[in-house]
Order: sequence, then structure tokens, then C-alpha cells
Amino acid sequence: MKTELLLTTEDLRKYPFVSKAFERVRSLNLTLADLASHPLRNVIERAAAYVKAAVNGSEPPPPSDDSEEEVLAFAVALILLKAVGDRSLTRKLAVIFSRRVGRFLAGEDLSKLVYVLSELGVKARVLQAKVHGYPVAVHVLSYLESTPERAGHWKLVHRLVERGWVYVSKLEAARLGEEALKKFIERKVEEIKLDEVSMPDAVYRLVEGLSAEWGARIKELRERWAPEGLEASEDAFPPCIKAIVEDLKAGKNVPHSARFALASFLLSIGMSVDEVLEVFRAAPDFNEKIARYQVEHIAGMRGSGKKYTPYKCDNMRTLGLCVAECGVKHPLQYYWKALRRQKAPSAARGSRARRGPAEAPHLVEGDSNGPSTRPG
Ligand code: SF4
Repeated sequence: MKTELLLTTEDLRKYPFVSKAFERVRSLNLTLADLASHPLRNVIERAAAYVKAAVNGSEPPPPSDDSEEEVLAFAVALILLKAVGDRSLTRKLAVIFSRRVGRFLAGEDLSKLVYVLSELGVKARVLQAKVHGYPVAVHVLSYLESTPERAGHWKLVHRLVERGWVYVSKLEAARLGEEALKKFIERKVEEIKLDEVSMPDAVYRLVEGLSAEWGARIKELRERWAPEGLEASEDAFPPCIKAIVEDLKAGKNVPHSARFALASFLLSIGMSVDEVLEVFRAAPDFNEKIARYQVEHIAGMRGSGKKYTPYKCDNMRTLGLCVAECGVKHPLQYYWKALRRQKAPSAARGSRARRGPAEAPHLVEGDSNGPSTRPG
């Protein structure tokens, strides 16, 4: 059962996502038009500052001194993200905002920390007396859902688990809260139903400006990773991707996780669905109709429209698909580095450019855990 805790206005400044904060927003019964006009204009400006911080990858502004303004600004920032409509920007804001909240949580007393975790759907409890030196226990399902990575000391096999509870330190509990908040923000933005028709002009112009800034930022980041003049090259593929291609060429039955890793990687380096299908044609169980459906799903052309990014190296390791220690965090990072090295002398000659990955800005910090559908 969730323990009720009296949250102070200071808490609402730091945690504007808790249910009490959302209740407060609802009870005010304000419209976007109200917020866009004086004297509430500060709310919109603060919300825009949050989104701009995400665009620039900078620290979010510190919480407002006015808890009501902060709570409203957080809610409006989510609306702005929905209106911009780019999941990678939402993820960016989720990352920088959650990082800040993680720092606040690490400084809280345990009961408040556990309360905020419960608001984020993390089942946790404070231990009356420390167990094996740990002050907090997190339910194993919550732990698995919010663990920052399934590697190193976060791996369940390296944890003390008793009767379905995982013992964690205070800092680890705060870190789990950080991860849960990222997902919470993405989910909230996803759930917003936006009526663009009734959006005030001032807010509409603001959204257009933010979209343009984000578009320019994406372009700049892509060019940094994949400058003009670089064409896709199989030689630059990381060892894990080469191994999957080799297995396919050898007619081996490649597991679904490997097929997803390969398809999402190839799409991210700019290959078309048809080009990706050509690579899969060698699979012994190749079925063009099914494979096309699945590759199009990964490319974001079907279903929810979400384009999937390839697995990070940590995920590849967990799935047993990592075959070397490359010193990178993401197979795409390996690829773009190798390609730049390989093509550096010829890049200036301006051969046809193969554009970079749609989500290159997230090479290191993205949450690429893959979809439920796999190609082939
Ligand atoms: S370290 Fe990363 S890029 Fe290298 S083989 Fe493993 S998963 Fe692939």
C-alpha cells in the first residue's frame, strides 16, 4: 500500500510530476490561451526554456521559486513536446529532467525518496533496520523495469534478492527513480491528446520555432557524425553486425534479436527497406512478405509510426550478440567513427552522401531496447 506523505510546496517545485501536482493543474482549470497571456506568460516561457534545454542538450533551468508556476510549466512543457511531435526530443527532455530529479532524490530522506518512487510506479520500501547494509528494498519487477542497465553491478545475478525484493543503496534507489521518470515523461507525452485547432497563435508560433531549432540541431548532429560525402560501407560495420551478416550469408538460422539488431542498424545508416531486404534474402527461412512487414515496422512506416533505434552495446552484450570489445557504447558510434577514418581523404571529393541515422544524437544515451517485432 502506498504511504501518503504530506508534500510541501518545495517538494512540488522539485517533483512537479507527482499526482498532487497534476491534481493542482487540473483544479486550476486553465486553458493554453490563459497561459499564453499576461500575467501567466511566465509559465509558457519557462516551459519553452525546458524544451530549449533539451534541444541544446544543456541543463534545464532551476525550478521556479513559485511552485505553482513550476508545476504548470512542467505540464505545458509536455504539451509543447507533444506538439513538436518528435520522440527523440521528448527523450532528450526526459533525460535531462530526470537527471536533475535524480540529484534531488539522492538528497531526500528515505521515506520521501520511496514516496516519490511510488508516484513513478516503482514499488519500494524503507527497511526499518538496514539489511546487509542496504536501507531500501525494491520489488524485483520494479527493479527490472527501472534498472539503468542490465550489466555490471545492476545485473540481477549480482544483487542480493530475498523473497522478490532487491536490496539497494539510497543512491541506487534515486537512480532507479531517475530511470522510471524518463519512462513516465515519455508515457505522459504519448498520452496527451492535442487539439491543434484550438491552440492559441502565440503557442503555435512557439511550437514552430522549437521545431525549427530542433530540426537545425538534428542536422548539425548528423553532419558531425556523418559528414557529406560519406557513403555506407560494409567494411566500417562493427564486428557484431559483420558477424550477423556473415551468419546470414552462410545460411545460418539467425535469432530474432540478431535480425532486429541488423535491420535497425542498416536502416539507421540510411539504407532503404528494399536494400535491407536484400541483405535478409540469404536467410534460410526468408519470406519477403513477412520480412517486408517487419522491416517497415522497424523503420516506423507501420503500426505506431515509431522508428526503432538499434540496440546499445550493453543490450547487445546481454543478448549475446556482442563479439568484441570495441571501446564504444553503441554499434552506430563504431560505424560512424570507422567510416570517417576510412573515407576521410575522399570525403572532400563530394561523392553521393548517404545520410546519417535519424537518431544519431542519441547514440550514447538512447534507450534502444528494441521492439517486440523482429524481421525475417
Ligand atoms: S562492443 Fe559494441 S560495437 Fe563492438 S562488437 Fe560489441 S556490441 Fe558491437
